[in-house]
Amino acid sequence: MIAPGSTIGVLGGGQLGRMLALAAASMGYRVHVFAPEAELPAGDVAAAVTRAGYDDAAALDGFAAAVDVVTFEFENIDTAAIRHLVARVPVYPGAASLEVAQDRLAEKRFVETLGGRPAAYRAVDSRADLDAAIAALGTPAVLKTRRMGYDGKGQARLHGPADADAAWAAIAGAPAVLEAWVDFSHEFSVVLARGQDGETCVWPVPHNVHRAGILDTSQVPAPAEITAQAAEAIALARRVADTLGHVGVLTLEFFATADGPRFNEMAPRVHNSAHWTIEGARASQFENHIRAVCGLPLGSTELTAPTVMMKNLLGDDVHDWCHLLADSRAHLHLYGKSEVKPGRKMGHVTWL
Ligand code: AMP
Repeated sequence: MIAPGSTIGVLGGGQLGRMLALAAASMGYRVHVFAPEAELPAGDVAAAVTRAGYDDAAALDGFAAAVDVVTFEFENIDTAAIRHLVARVPVYPGAASLEVAQDRLAEKRFVETLGGRPAAYRAVDSRADLDAAIAALGTPAVLKTRRMGYDGKGQARLHGPADADAAWAAIAGAPAVLEAWVDFSHEFSVVLARGQDGETCVWPVPHNVHRAGILDTSQVPAPAEITAQAAEAIALARRVADTLGHVGVLTLEFFATADGPRFNEMAPRVHNSAHWTIEGARASQFENHIRAVCGLPLGSTELTAPTVMMKNLLGDDVHDWCHLLADSRAHLHLYGKSEVKPGRKMGHVTWL
């Protein structure tokens, strides 16, 4: 067990790291953030910061010596950095979770071995592969890079076969996956936390609404169309976590369809669709992630209010902060980012 008073190292310095650091601090831990960017929303609330690249071995050594355990707030870290750290300090979640979740193709194949059903897909490594995939799957479809995609980035929609050239250009010919377009009624996610002893807890599944590929709102309880298929999705998420020996929060995103839940993607970390748990659940995803990586018992995922709704403040939405503060049911979270850009996650608000 890593007791309060110890130092938790966090790779990545964005808003997820910031909310992890706040949860850790409230439990008596120190947080040391490691990230390369000049502006670090997590660094602003951490006890220590190492500003260095993930390929800087000397900086990683110094970081490993200064912390008692390491976790991460984003999955696109070179696994070489993780392997370097694992030899020196405990790292949770482990490299297995990271490797699967970094590659959309590996992720889909892995989930299929556990009985999950992604949208129909084909691997695309060349322009000729793309034509073959379109012939097999038809259109509409969506071409997604295997690596580094997030918030709708690294994706191109194909309305018809004539869009193939533009889609291929849009992803710059990177190794990719073509996915059939899913006719879904709703989107939802399963967010769970798994402890070092294998104990697992799951928050009520949120109904997620995306705008232009970016999460807009998450709401619990979800409507009946989702709750009717949540058990199957939760069972799959538990198998994924157990098979990977995952420790910490794990998120699987799903489409609710007429023939049940279709797996979309997974993240081996705390997730935007569970930010509502800060006020809306007895233990938040951030608190339970800290508990899990430190080997503590997990907290209750029970709701604290009959209905909870989270809305992201994207780009200029952040200028509403003053108005939101006047709403007695609203809990405002701002991430301290200095530059407002369209679609940038500047903060979120949760209504109980
Ligand atoms: P992703 O980054 O893969 O989660 O995609 C972002 C969002 O785009 C999803 O949450 C959906 O709203 C939409 N989307 C992605 N893939 C598909 C698909 N195969 N069919 C329908 N909608 C999709």
